[in-house]
Parts: sequence; structure tokens; C-alpha cells
Amino acid sequence: MLTTGRGDADRFHEECGVFGVFGHPDAAALAALGLHALQHRGQEAAGIVAYDGEQFNAHRGMGLVGDLFGSPDVIRKLPGHSAIGHVRYATTGEVALRNVQPLYFDFALGGMAICHNGNLTNSYQLRKQLVRRGCLFNTTSDTEVINHLIATSEQSTIVDRMVDGLSQIEGAYSLAALTQESVIGLRDPLGVRPLVIGQLAGAWIIASETCALDIIDAEFVRDVEPGEIVVADVQGLHSVKPFAKRPERFCIFEHIYFARPDSVIEGKSVYEARKRIGQELARESYVDADVVVPVPDSGVPAAIGYSQEAGIPFELGIIRNHYVGRTFIEPTDQIRHLGVRLKHNANRNDLKGKRVILVDDSIVRGTTSTKIVEMVRNAGAREVHMRISSPPTTHPCFYGIATPERAQLLAARYDVDEMARFIGVDTLAFISIKGLYRAMGESERDPLVPQFCDACFTGDYPIPLVDAEDGKVSAQLSLLA
Ligand code: AMP
Repeated sequence: MLTTGRGDADRFHEECGVFGVFGHPDAAALAALGLHALQHRGQEAAGIVAYDGEQFNAHRGMGLVGDLFGSPDVIRKLPGHSAIGHVRYATTGEVALRNVQPLYFDFALGGMAICHNGNLTNSYQLRKQLVRRGCLFNTTSDTEVINHLIATSEQSTIVDRMVDGLSQIEGAYSLAALTQESVIGLRDPLGVRPLVIGQLAGAWIIASETCALDIIDAEFVRDVEPGEIVVADVQGLHSVKPFAKRPERFCIFEHIYFARPDSVIEGKSVYEARKRIGQELARESYVDADVVVPVPDSGVPAAIGYSQEAGIPFELGIIRNHYVGRTFIEPTDQIRHLGVRLKHNANRNDLKGKRVILVDDSIVRGTTSTKIVEMVRNAGAREVHMRISSPPTTHPCFYGIATPERAQLLAARYDVDEMARFIGVDTLAFISIKGLYRAMGESERDPLVPQFCDACFTGDYPIPLVDAEDGKVSAQLSLLA
């Protein structure tokens, strides 16, 4: 979903995770646990809607899953054998609260709740048309467009209405939906965002990542296929594939940074993929040094791979404080300025007098790297080399990863030498696109239809950016479409 926030209206905020359960007496409690495992996909808001056979009950709020759903009293108010839930990277305040998912609506076929991971790229245009037809929008979220398309469709079944609605939508989406009879999971035809199916004691689970199955001891069944709709109901699990098959374009940045390293996506361990990227990076841009130090936590697996391949010892030269919530670093400019120091500290003994290779997964604005490098130099490092386990991030993501607008991306403004000077390192290198694809098990990037969505590194956007091309992306932030 796309919502406003933090005063930087051009910035996208739509990192999310979804979870669904059908056929378990503790559906809401399982959803709370699943969302807790997906917390890395969005830390600022969460919600669960459950169906008890007669009515839908919902609890949503700003904050972490543990704080919102940790109490048995809250879970008791969400009875029923089916539930869906959502975690979201969002913002604070009233405007955001009404956007907290799952979104619920009543329509001709009954009640329905929907939650969404991804971002629609033509929702502004659709919204305009729907408003002209008399639809009343309650949120600024692009997800609500899906509700209205389903509600206004003239098809006779829920799935047919979903197909009808989705065929009008452009964008990246993995959805979980809850109806009186079913829990439904689906992925967009290119399969940009992940979604998996699991089973637990006869119940069906859907989740953004396998780590959310592990936490409840559910068995992984398979990934939802791109363009597939799976419906779990009393008859079991049914699959519908209404869209013409197209080449898959899974988001490569999920493997680099976003997904949890203990997840397995489309048969690939995220942790192993990150280590292999680190190994490739060492082969491509070896530098003689004393220690390989990850920028924790996201740089850790790639740094292990780099260290193994380069034969240079791995050390935790930077320690991360895990208890810094986003809310803590937000309130004032002064505190925000301190953000990285609140989060990271140099482990001086392991840096002093050393030639250090710092490994991180990406450089976005360059803020983190600049501060980390300064910290490592202040700790007495003799040389600081930086190695990045992604290619330069030159383009914003319009498909569900939070990125600033293009002008704020360091790699959109500078070449690698200029970036090295900007962040203050002796040398800087990024993995090449070729090396990245090699690490992902592909002999090369197919120039005609690449095996992944890599738009943030190449500018090759596989789904039309209808609203952005229309100059209307930030206009979505207005309730008046
Ligand atoms: P920056 O300081 O803007 O260069 O951001 C780079 C740091 O942010 C890296 O350490 C990444 O691990 C992390 N990062 C990269 N992409 C994202 C994202 N979409 N959301 C939050 N953090 C990110």
C-alpha cells in the first residue's frame, strides 16, 4: 500500500508482510505468531481480522506485533477458525491508522478482509474512475482500490470478482483475503513479492515467508505460483490460474536485503544466496586486508561469504543495538541525526590498526555508510574498504520496497569513485549485475526477459508505472482522487 508519512511525501512506504490461517481453533493466535516472524517486513503497524462463523472481529494498531497482540485478552477477542493478518511499514497519526490493514468491507456477497504486500502502479487512475462511479473511499491506501473493484464487479463468485478486479490492476502484489467461507492467497502474474503455503494439523497457512511457518511449526507445502489464486476452505485447497502465464520476475532485492535469512524463497535459501553473493563479491573485488566486518545485521551473510572466499578473518567489528525502534529515532532532527550511533557501535579492539573491509547489502542515500566509516576510522582502522552485496541502487522501487525518490539515491547522482569519496573510504566496490545473477544460480542475466525484477539496479521496470508516468504518484497521498 502507499501512504503518506514523515513529511517526505515523495517517499514510498510500503514494505509489508501478510499471513493467513484457515481451519485452526487458534487462528488469531497463530496469525499473531506468524506476524511476529514477519516483523522485519514492517514495524510500524499491524492488524488481524478473524472470522468466528458469525462475524468478523478485528484488531489493528500502530506498533510492534508483540505489543499489539502479545496479550491473551486481545487474542480472546478474535475468536474463530480463520484469520488473516498484516504487518506494515507505515507512519504515525490518524491518517495512517485508518490505513492499517487488513482492510474490511461488506459487499453483495458478504464480508471480506484483505491485506496486501506490494504496490499497485495504476491505483490512482483506477481510484479516479471508481470515485467517478460513486465509490466512497475510507483510506489513502492503494489496497482499497482492490476492495472496490471486487465490490463493483458483476461476477457471481468471490474468486471471479477477484479475477475481474485484478485484471484491471497493474502492480506487484501478494494478497491474503478472508471471507466467511475461505482464506485466499494470491500473487501477481510476475510473482514480484513472495507468498508461501503451509499446513499445520489439517489447517492451511499462507505467509509472506517460510520463517512465519517455522515459528508455528507448520510444514512448508510450496510457494504460491505467480498469477495463482489459492483458496483454502472446508473442501481443502483449490488453485485457480486465471491469468496468461508470463515469465516470472521475482524481486532480487528480497534475496539481497529484505527477506529474513532463514527463509526459503522459490527453493532458494536466502542465507545461502547472500553468502554466495559475498563470495562472488570477493572474487570480483578482492582487496588485501586484515579483517572482514559486516554492517549488522543485513551485511552479515554476505560478509561471511566474502571472508570465506577471500581467506580474510571475519570479525564483528561493529555491534548493533537491537532495541532501537524506529519511533525512538524519529521525533526530532537532532535525534534522527544520532540515529546510526544509537544503532551501531564500533568494537574498537577488533578495528584498531587494522585494514578493514566493511560489507553491507546496499547504499541507498549513503547516510549509513558515511557514519559507519567515520566510526570505524575513529576506532583506529588503518584502511577502510567498502564492499556492497548489491549493484548500485540507481532507481526507486515502485513495487513494494521503501526507497526514496531518485534524486536522493547516491548512485543516481555519483559514479563509484565519487561515492567512495562521499562516504570516505579508501576503496569501494559493488557486486556487478553479472556476478549477482551468477550468485543466484543463473549463468547470466537474460537481456530480453531477466529472471528477476532488478529495476532498482537497472531501471528495467517490468510492470508499467502508469501513475508515476502520469506524474500522479504523490497525488495518491490525497484522499481526493
Ligand atoms: P542509506 O543509509 O540510505 O544508504 O541506507 C543504506 C542502509 O539501509 C543499508 O545498511 C541497508 O541495509 C538499509 N536498507 C536498504 N534498503 C532498505 C529499505 N528499503 N528499507 C530500510 N533499510 C534499507
